[in-house]
Amino acid sequence: MNISITEEEFRKIKEEVLNCKKCSLQKERVKNRFYPVIGEGNHRAKIMFVGEAPGLQEAKIGRPFCGAAGKILDQLLESVRIKREEVYITNLLKCRPPENRDPQPEEIKACSPYLERQIEIIKPKVICLLGRYSMKFLMEKFGLEDQIEGISKIHGRLFESKNLFQNIAIIPFYHPAVATYNPNMKEILVKDFKILERFK
Ligand code: URA
Ligand code: SF4
Repeated sequence: MNISITEEEFRKIKEEVLNCKKCSLQKERVKNRFYPVIGEGNHRAKIMFVGEAPGLQEAKIGRPFCGAAGKILDQLLESVRIKREEVYITNLLKCRPPENRDPQPEEIKACSPYLERQIEIIKPKVICLLGRYSMKFLMEKFGLEDQIEGISKIHGRLFESKNLFQNIAIIPFYHPAVATYNPNMKEILVKDFKILERFK
């Protein structure tokens, strides 16, 4: 896609999310004076990360993965010498669920079209799934629903999808937040992240 068209599409998504009232999380956001977290990074990234939803820190600042889980993600990227600016990072939900509760089906239904558009514009070579909701949603979207298993079984495994616009690799990972309270998980994540070196 032409650069200016890409940027125009990103601008549109940003404007729509800032004004979005498609689910009840908008009221929570306004009540708390939080920001939506649209996503950030390279609009032509080869590697895209999709988390679950903004946490408290993210909602206060408006950037994805800028709290404790973000610190782990930064360390994981550094371990494979990938710069944060090279990748694109976003979430399944753009507004924070109260008390970080699980995303509800109607929220996923309302919000996921933004994520789908982001994927279509960026056309990444690989999508890294962080958390079971983004895993379920995107594995279903890419025709991999038969291969969904618990994250302890499929973390770090590369799935290939020929759906839609191109071949795309899908890799589920443990959510970096688990490593904030369990250091053994960090080791597993560091090992799993090595697979990303081939996509640089
Ligand atoms: N956890 C997520 O899933 N996304 C963020 O942006 C931050 C924490
Ligand atoms: Fe809109 Fe998504 Fe925020 Fe719901 S979570 S209000 S669908 S941007």
